[in-house]
Amino acid sequence: MKLNFWGAAKQVTGSMHQLVLKSGYNVLIDCGLQYERGDSLEVNHDLPVNPKEVDLILLTHAHIDHSGNIPTFIKKGYDGNIICTEPTYALAESLLSDSVNVQLAESKPGKNKRKWVRHTSVLYGQKDVNHAMNKTLTYPFLKWFEVNEELRFMFYPAGHILGAASILLEIRERNTITRIGFTGDLGQINAKIVVDPMPMPELDYLVSESTYGNRLHKNEFSPEEELERYIQKNCINIRGRIVIPAFSVGRTQAILFTLNKLYRKGILKGIRVFTDSKLGIQSTKIHAAYDSYLNEEAKKFIEEYGSLFEFPELRVIQTESEQKEMAYHSGPSIIVSSAGMIEGGRIQQHIRNNIQNPMCTILIAGYCAKGTLGYRLLQGQNSVKIKNKEHAVFAKIRSTDVFSAHPDRTGLVDYIKNSESGKLKKIFLVHGEAQNMTEFGEFLGEQINTEIVIPEKGMSFEI
Ligand SMILES: [Zn+2]
Repeated sequence: MKLNFWGAAKQVTGSMHQLVLKSGYNVLIDCGLQYERGDSLEVNHDLPVNPKEVDLILLTHAHIDHSGNIPTFIKKGYDGNIICTEPTYALAESLLSDSVNVQLAESKPGKNKRKWVRHTSVLYGQKDVNHAMNKTLTYPFLKWFEVNEELRFMFYPAGHILGAASILLEIRERNTITRIGFTGDLGQINAKIVVDPMPMPELDYLVSESTYGNRLHKNEFSPEEELERYIQKNCINIRGRIVIPAFSVGRTQAILFTLNKLYRKGILKGIRVFTDSKLGIQSTKIHAAYDSYLNEEAKKFIEEYGSLFEFPELRVIQTESEQKEMAYHSGPSIIVSSAGMIEGGRIQQHIRNNIQNPMCTILIAGYCAKGTLGYRLLQGQNSVKIKNKEHAVFAKIRSTDVFSAHPDRTGLVDYIKNSESGKLKKIFLVHGEAQNMTEFGEFLGEQINTEIVIPEKGMSFEI
């Protein structure tokens, strides 16, 4: 059989891997949008495989760099099913609709357009998203799905975000059984809300993410301790404001849950918490609806308090008058808003409103790609351009790793060692920046005996 790498190869977006069995049966594992390079439109629009030749799409999780090109496949004639877990279905539905809105907004004349939408209109519309969702089936973790006589697969909990799966495929060709594991994106051990990633057993091949393979998270404190420290210093002592840019899916919920825990400890008295991302609010509701997929800590908390995210100091902002209330709130406060790297979304406005306020702390809680506003702030620039206007930076800029949705080098090595049962023939590293992957590959090579391959985009392997 053939294993082909069409995306997230020496890069972190556009996840798309393909398995073509000897019989010709054709499976895609993830089908994401690539969006970190200038040429993204062509990359996403011009599909590397003919959608009509694909028999099945398996989706690891809802993030748009894993799910975002499924509607393009549908639009171009893909007629098979997509299979994912229940929460992934619900989150993907929200994220794909949001992706349509973002594309429409950015393709409007006169707007500050990204290069990839300037060339043409949008990749797909809501109709294609609806069609894709109609074609999507859900399946639970840890149960074999028998696709046909030669192929079955099982979803393993991957942590990362609600419903995220690693996928073990077992292929029976003549008298041989081959087991291939795709990690998808993994989470950290003991993360907030989501379960721990579970390694897949008895693998012959592993396709592993390596996002943070070259770094070690600075997790000196638990999420509660970390936020409490910032709140004590920047909200309680000086009656200031903390602005936290957070991704709508996963990060926002982990932060709101941690704040709820601090409220129950009596820490948040008199400190108003605002959250205003539409997608974040939708996603929060989905987390509440699929509580059986949460980790034990979260389940226990719901048993005790009834809800993960509701507490009296929290204001979920949906109307314009509520927006004003948030902007003019004079007491100590915390704003949790998206997007995480401060590129687009409502967070840009909060940063603009607060960046010259020395009583404000901007707490960056995740990865910021080069060139993003989040990245520039983290570089310690005295002044930053937001929407073509220069703003002096008087707010304090801080960052924390405790909410990271990916394991660091140690976490990845532990996971991979737990997958190594003596029969692993090759590890393919994907989903990482090229330089980081090389460093991680060398480090990993010193820890285990298995051959490590870092495929280029478009590479094909006979396995
Ligand atoms: Zn992800």
